[in-house]
Amino acid sequence: MACLRLLLGDQLDPEHPWFAAKRDDVMYVLMEMRQETDYVLHHAQKILAIFAAMRRFASQLREAGHRVCYLAIDDPANRQSLPDNLTRLLHQHGASELEYQAPDEWRLDQQLRQYAAQQAIAVRCVDSTHFLTTRDEVARFFGSRGSERWTMEVFYRYMRQRHGVLLEPDGAPMGGRWNFDAENRKPWPGDPPEPPDLRPTHDHSVLWQTIRDAGVASFGDPDAHALRWPLDRAEALQQLDAFIEHGLPDFGDYQDAISAQASRLFHSLLSFALNVKMLSPREVITRAEQAGRQGLAPLASVEGFIRQILGWREYVRGVYWAQMPGYEHNNAFGHTRPLPQWFWTGSTRMACVRTAIGRSLANAHAHHIERLMVIGNFALLAGLDPHAVHQWYLGVYIDAFEWVELPNTVGMSQFADGGLLATKPYISAAAYLHRMGDHCGRCPYRHDQPTGPRACPFNALYWDFLARNADQLSANPRLEMPYRQLARMPASRRNALAQQADALRCNLEAL
Ligand code: FAD
Repeated sequence: MACLRLLLGDQLDPEHPWFAAKRDDVMYVLMEMRQETDYVLHHAQKILAIFAAMRRFASQLREAGHRVCYLAIDDPANRQSLPDNLTRLLHQHGASELEYQAPDEWRLDQQLRQYAAQQAIAVRCVDSTHFLTTRDEVARFFGSRGSERWTMEVFYRYMRQRHGVLLEPDGAPMGGRWNFDAENRKPWPGDPPEPPDLRPTHDHSVLWQTIRDAGVASFGDPDAHALRWPLDRAEALQQLDAFIEHGLPDFGDYQDAISAQASRLFHSLLSFALNVKMLSPREVITRAEQAGRQGLAPLASVEGFIRQILGWREYVRGVYWAQMPGYEHNNAFGHTRPLPQWFWTGSTRMACVRTAIGRSLANAHAHHIERLMVIGNFALLAGLDPHAVHQWYLGVYIDAFEWVELPNTVGMSQFADGGLLATKPYISAAAYLHRMGDHCGRCPYRHDQPTGPRACPFNALYWDFLARNADQLSANPRLEMPYRQLARMPASRRNALAQQADALRCNLEAL
């Protein structure tokens, strides 16, 4: 055997150039490892879906005539760590070369670089060919402009032009504007109805038992009898088709809505398939653009959706590689409070938070606004330790891989990098949550009360956060309006809000 080729659990791309030719002298290696299940406490569905998809990928490679070595979590020969397994397998197969695709996480990148440096045989790292940008493209882009703030919108326009997406023949943006965000902020009135959930259902209770017997710790509902995540490219493509037909037309309008009645709304739920590379971002963008050009979805929806993938997804990856290592320890506000226990149970009386955390625990998914404006908003206002918040997000979501989760959590949601990524903290009082959602009506807290026993906790926490951090934030032009409102408040009201916020922060478990 000449060459071992390593495939990580998020490198399940059958279209990778590696697979264009069958080679008898190549052995593909996939490993289920405690190293990967245990670096943070994971949601059960995340472990289950990744292992199930890896197993499916291995058998499809075998069916296509490739040679595959698969180390299951309960294989007695499995040493449960990447370097130890590689050493054993290289020896066992008498391999004289090792190849791997560039990992997307800094942790694995370092581990493989260090391993490669210690080997006498040739070790090559190849491109995963998944992304539209190189790791350092975002840093080079902003570096060449001398920008202090890395504004996503600026990068996004560059990406539209560079990749010729949603452009008129003369290079102008389709519809005359780069961004239709202002049209994408409607609450959802219950109509049009949420599209049907056409994702496949998989029974993986046997694999789940194997994972449990191997002693892997987890949290959240495994839903092993009815796992809903796509497990191979064919299923991911079906999900993409369903989204383009049923979800995309209304995606834009209700992109920012939150609802107790609908967990998916018009979101694609494609992040797992994208992040494990069953789908390429290029093809998803192309499909959305085609739908727009054929008049199957309005431009505001198509642009809003494409911006998430061509813009945000590539951008946060570039921020990650520019800021690692160390980005995970940012803590601009010096927040240190541990997460309340109800992050692991969903048992809080705040209806919007209960729903968003409950969905996260039940489905290993919550949509962007639930992650950002409900859970993340609360965490920031309550002063929770951003590193603990990061670890929770990294564990809980089906699509959470550090390169995308960390900038979203530490940067966008917790503003812990002091504003490198977000132009202002994503915070709000209850009025925003009331406007964008339908939870307040069934919540014991009153969205319209700032203080008192029944006041929505978001209210006092919001005003107190602004007051406490005025030194850092009051000069931010995007916060001019709330700071003006704060300045107009009588001292007695400000004191009452501060006292209420203090009491809330000391009693988070009871909320
Ligand atoms: P849709 O709303 O249908 O959007 C389409 C696609 O756009 C997504 O599948 C995703 O690939 C991409 N996308 C959308 N927003 C972002 C974004 N802000 N950054 C990067 N890509 C984006 N996304 C992850 O993939 N993994 C994470 O671990 C993750 N953690 C997050 C943590 C926080 C605190 C926040 C605020 C956001 C996080 N996101 C993360 C971004 C976003 O919330 C998810 O990508 C999205 O909810 C996935 O659901 P969907 O596929 O239905 O997305």
